[in-house]
Amino acid sequence: GPVIVWLRNDLRLADNPALKAAADTGRPVIPLYVLDETSGVRPMGAASLWWLDKSLRTLAESLKAIGSKLVLRRGPAMDVLKDVVAHAGAAAVVWNRLYEPAAIARDAEIKTALKADGLVVESCVAGLLNEPWTVQNGSKQPYKVFTPYWRAARAHLTHVEVEAAPKRLEAPKHWPHSDSLDGWGLHPKTPDWSKGFSIWTPGEAGALSRLDDFLSGPVDGYGEGRDVPGLEATSRLSPHLHFGEIGPRQVWAAARNAAEAGDAPHGEIEKFLSEVGWREFNHAILFNWPDLPKKNFRPEFDAFPWSENPRGFEAWTEGRTGYPLVDAGMRELWATGFMHNRVRMITASFLIKHLLVDWREGEAWFWDTLVDADLANNVGNWQWVAGSGADASPYFRIFNPIGQGERFDPKGTYVKRWIPELANLPADVVHQPWTAPERLSAGARAVYGKPIVDHPRARAAALEAYRRLRGDA
Ligand code: FAD
Repeated sequence: GPVIVWLRNDLRLADNPALKAAADTGRPVIPLYVLDETSGVRPMGAASLWWLDKSLRTLAESLKAIGSKLVLRRGPAMDVLKDVVAHAGAAAVVWNRLYEPAAIARDAEIKTALKADGLVVESCVAGLLNEPWTVQNGSKQPYKVFTPYWRAARAHLTHVEVEAAPKRLEAPKHWPHSDSLDGWGLHPKTPDWSKGFSIWTPGEAGALSRLDDFLSGPVDGYGEGRDVPGLEATSRLSPHLHFGEIGPRQVWAAARNAAEAGDAPHGEIEKFLSEVGWREFNHAILFNWPDLPKKNFRPEFDAFPWSENPRGFEAWTEGRTGYPLVDAGMRELWATGFMHNRVRMITASFLIKHLLVDWREGEAWFWDTLVDADLANNVGNWQWVAGSGADASPYFRIFNPIGQGERFDPKGTYVKRWIPELANLPADVVHQPWTAPERLSAGARAVYGKPIVDHPRARAAALEAYRRLRGDA
């Protein structure tokens, strides 16, 4: 009987060990994608569904080109797999492992059930450089701090193998029923994201060309450039990595090759790879602390006096806080499904510390609007900013949105790109337009609002709330 390859966050042909294992059997292969929104895995947000739609289309094309087909089904994965197995008379099911707690639980249950039905079931490693349980400290405990984690994880990575894409896949005599992608309606009609999202090319080819572009240019200077939101100095690989259109081993191997070839200084390449390391670290943290999406890593934060602030929250989501760097970030997010990392830190800090809104509300908004929304990375980073996470930034580090703007966007390039109302303001006032002389800012004042909170006062209130939390008021 045929072999079913259950594709999930590994929407690629190259360096896909499950697909390769299936192809290597010489038997017919059935590539299957299941849209499973009911098995406890957090359902994708709107921007992710937009991406998924495109990614599945390109994957279907690539499979067609090697004599195969992508079978699409919607429903609980257990039921769908059993159904496809029965109809296809399949003998085996293979997949690449996921590491989110809910996915692990679901997959374990499915593995047991299929084995009980007499099938061969195999799972492979595609999504991480190091699986979470393989990196432990001297006392066989998971690391809670990034630097020692990465030192240990990095040491494992002496020889990273990348598998080529299969050239052909044997087709089954009869293809099982497939849904049509159009019928799934993943592509939202409102909002119309088509313009802003056109910066993206979802799919394996788009991922590989992003990597190429990055390694043949911006990686040289990444260490400093990565903090400047007005530049395109980072790889923008995050959505591709999340959906597995490219694997971390491919990124690793290409980056190391670039270093060996002298395309960029080793230090710059290692800095980039250590960011890929943060992705690994966050996945390991979530694996070891499965409650992290709901609970503070540091329980003392459970008593934090978050405020109900629906109007502040709404202003934040719409990019109307009156702080240009915060608003530019939130508008970039809405328009493109992406936000520069430094600005993610500043906007998240603003919501948590200036507006005193629970980090979980911000995490949920990002989840719905980011094309790279990733449970481990989103939750890990929100808790990092809140100060409640593993190896977190201390709570009392409160980003000053004005100072951050002056430092990392000194000419106002980034804020002017996203807030056209500010286009004519000189650089020295663009991050605090309310200080601009009347004659320069008349236009801007009319259309761009005043700050919704006063920075020094908000900062003092946040520190006071934290002091009370620690009981040393
Ligand atoms: P590059 O600088 O080119 O880095 C290369 C890769 O390393 C990225 O593609 C990404 O996979 C990984 N990486 C980089 N920085 C981080 C980081 N801080 N944590 C984990 N992995 C990292 N990243 C997500 O992938 N999904 C999320 O849902 C997400 N939510 C975030 C929420 C907040 C509040 C913050 C502060 C950060 C969040 N990040 C998230 C991390 C980071 O902002 C993005 O990974 C990064 O901006 C992606 O851009 P890039 O691909 O150009 O990164």
